[in-house]
Amino acid sequence: MLAIRGKIAKRRKKHLFLFGGIGFFILFVIVVIPMLISLFVFLAVDSNSGSYSYDIPLFGYQDAIPGPLKQIYEEVGRQYHIPWNILAAVHKIDGDYLNEMKSLFPNDVPFAQVFHEAGAKYGVDPALLKAIAKQESNFNPKELSHAGARGIMQLMPANCQEAGLDPNGDCWDPVKNIHAGAQEIARYLKKYQGNLIFALAAYNAGPARVSGMDDNPRPPEVPPIPETQDYVKKVPMYYEQFKKGMGDGKVDPAKIEEIRKKVESVASKLAEKRKKHEDSSKQGNPTACMVELKKKTVKEVKEGKAGNYGALTCALAEYFSESWSKVAQVEEQAQLYLGSVMLTGSGKPVSFGGRMLWPVQVGGGVHKQGGCVSSPYGQNRGTYYHRGVDISAPMGTPVFAAEAGKVYISKADPISLSDPIGFGWYVGIDHGNGLTTWYGHMPRKSVLVKVGDYVQKGQKIAEVGRNGMTDTQAHLHFEVHINQDRDRIDPTPFIGKGVPCNRSKFDPSYYTHPIYGVNE
Ligand SMILES: [Zn+2]
Repeated sequence: MLAIRGKIAKRRKKHLFLFGGIGFFILFVIVVIPMLISLFVFLAVDSNSGSYSYDIPLFGYQDAIPGPLKQIYEEVGRQYHIPWNILAAVHKIDGDYLNEMKSLFPNDVPFAQVFHEAGAKYGVDPALLKAIAKQESNFNPKELSHAGARGIMQLMPANCQEAGLDPNGDCWDPVKNIHAGAQEIARYLKKYQGNLIFALAAYNAGPARVSGMDDNPRPPEVPPIPETQDYVKKVPMYYEQFKKGMGDGKVDPAKIEEIRKKVESVASKLAEKRKKHEDSSKQGNPTACMVELKKKTVKEVKEGKAGNYGALTCALAEYFSESWSKVAQVEEQAQLYLGSVMLTGSGKPVSFGGRMLWPVQVGGGVHKQGGCVSSPYGQNRGTYYHRGVDISAPMGTPVFAAEAGKVYISKADPISLSDPIGFGWYVGIDHGNGLTTWYGHMPRKSVLVKVGDYVQKGQKIAEVGRNGMTDTQAHLHFEVHINQDRDRIDPTPFIGKGVPCNRSKFDPSYYTHPIYGVNE
């Protein structure tokens, strides 16, 4: 805790690259040229489909898959041409997954009993305390960070003193150290009304960085410090593991082989059944399931909860003895594994299994990614952090819905000196599961949607402008929110990095004139 610099210094490895002329030439030939070629292939493929898209990385701490299992799903999935996430989902839903995980990870952590005692005393889940200890010190009672954080729970001297411990004495006692850490996280959980992420951010970066000083508070946010951002992802991941009884993460090799055989057996059954359903359609004599799927006569398919995998869906239905609710569960879980976001204290995951479109698109007919990034997410602006990405583009460049959804905001953000955001006219789209996107600074007259409208992914909703508190150039301010606008997160994983603006070579059409507070 409070050990930002120390921990970062400790973890960073120093890399030194020294290239002579020849070395650089070799590097260019074997690395840069193939990279350029693959980039062009990527661009060519993508412009054919008319949009730029990116895979969303797995955020799903809620459903974090232990590494050794992920490897099994991937390997077996490749062998049988079945998506790994389907295999993972079947494994989770079909059978006694939790007990299986317990036997896969037989060892509990060091000081396990102390974590349980401290958890009971301060009303904190012992699994959470284990997770913090794992991330902070990997259970090493002698760990000392460069910033001076001490012991298993990495208490700063001030934290030791708060708990009545001597920073150079009994604060190093593992039992007392764990109890003091438990007390600290319990205090933050109370302060942030059970919001785990804010509580963890406070434990890592100090409460002042999360919600200001007590006499000058502001709404809490995870500070855009890389270590803290990493911390609030990793600790919940460990937390989920420890909740499942995964102990120290060491795997029983015999058990892993047992699981591999089980997954292989499931995969071979599914592949066989899939082929039967596939062939039936090819031969013009489709199975009942393929007919039902096409006509959407099954309730779960009609409701969009199943049916995304064609013949494989039918194979799943057969595997689960026509229990379509099980099929729906598997497909939902599979989507969750593909791309999911969970940053909520309630532990409810937000699922988003897909890709978003870069919201500024140029070109007639076939669109492509437009504009450049003039201000990234997380930029420190003195009194606040920039919680979106600014995409600069000429006035009037079309703004597209990054994903399908329902428009739930379309209004002017009133300009005032106390409002540093000043979105101008902005639109919010609800994509379901608590996931929303916001689009700001658009001229009112350009906005094509109203509250209640359903929009398609890639539908034009407005144009780039400079409405509100904008810089010298027109730009779209784009935000991605999860947990129903409670957390504004980095849009990069959803839409990609984009191209940074080269300010010295700025297209003059991007400029308006230096002005703040336009409302047009
Ligand atoms: Zn902005």
